[in-house]
Amino acid sequence: METKKGNGDSHSGCEGDDCPEAFEKMSDLVDGELDSSAKSRLEHHFANCPLCLTVLSTFRKTLEIFGGRKQDDIPKNISSNLHKTIRAEIEKGR
Ligand SMILES: [Zn+2]
Repeated sequence: METKKGNGDSHSGCEGDDCPEAFEKMSDLVDGELDSSAKSRLEHHFANCPLCLTVLSTFRKTLEIFGGRKQDDIPKNISSNLHKTIRAEIEKGR
């Protein structure tokens, strides 16, 4: 898959490089801890990246399963498994 870069700030589909950052901030987004500019940047990424959108909804479901507990209370292995899954998906997409 060839994604052209260095084309101003045009967003032509998913740029995998932004995904790790989006994943990092996803929990803050769900917790409502992002300021509005960071939030709109993330939402822009999700709008252009079906993968991240899927991960976000998976993440929200995971939180629901844990009864809306804070992210800190979620066992570390779950978030690291989530990260592994995400990475595998990204590698597949290349
Ligand atoms: Zn993404």
